[in-house]
Amino acid sequence: MSESTRLRIAIQKSGRLSKESQKLLKSCGVKFNVNEQRLIAHSDNMPIDLLRVRDDDIPGLVMDGVVDLGIIGENVLEEEQIERQSLGKPAECIKLRELDFGACRLSLAVPNEFSYQDASSLEGLRIATSYPNLLRRYMQEKGINYRDCMLKGSVEVAPRAGLSDGICDLVSTGATLEANGLYETEVIYRSMACIIQSTQSQPDDKQALINKILSRINGVVRAKE
Ligand code: ATP
Ligand code: ZN
Repeated sequence: MSESTRLRIAIQKSGRLSKESQKLLKSCGVKFNVNEQRLIAHSDNMPIDLLRVRDDDIPGLVMDGVVDLGIIGENVLEEEQIERQSLGKPAECIKLRELDFGACRLSLAVPNEFSYQDASSLEGLRIATSYPNLLRRYMQEKGINYRDCMLKGSVEVAPRAGLSDGICDLVSTGATLEANGLYETEVIYRSMACIIQSTQSQPDDKQALINKILSRINGVVRAKE
């Protein structure tokens, strides 16, 4: 496959970041129409292609240089970075800036009847999470041994289903925890969406386009502050 002369930007296909990612690019003057069935949306006024993928795939696509830019939650970026470092895969990218959406926190939570003092209350217990690397880093810093329960979804029902003692999951309002009889005990990571660039060197015209987009993003985000 030849290197594209068009700028490739990966965004989440559908989910919590997809609408805001599209809105941000549109407010930077990038015109495009998304066809829900299509992976790629071509811009008609700039040499830009949008790749619409699962958010989990975005950091790897940028780190492998398959796409030039990506819009992703810092939580997913950091989780993937630790994973790739442990596997000896390329794990570098440039964080161009934090954005003003996608705010959430990765937190420990336990059932309402659990008497929690501090993270050591979880010593030897099982914790369900979709973020095993961020959880491991935090618990290692605290010197706490726990057991893994890796779930890609439905993390919040794991304790009630008897799969785990506690969870480590994304929280924004806390309503999902409450609905599942859980309470938040500790924030282990705070996250926002961010825009990242591949470390591959770019031809001058492509880098100039990246700079233009970034300066417009700076303007758009600052105007809202
Ligand atoms: P995909 O199908 O793309 O894999 P997903 O189900 O993994 O989607 P979403 O639930 O759409 O992902 O969340 C995407 C990102 O939105 C999260 O990784 C996080 O950065 C951010 N986010 C903001 N608030 C929340 C929240 N309350 N719960 C989960 N994610 C949140
Ligand atoms: Zn995902």
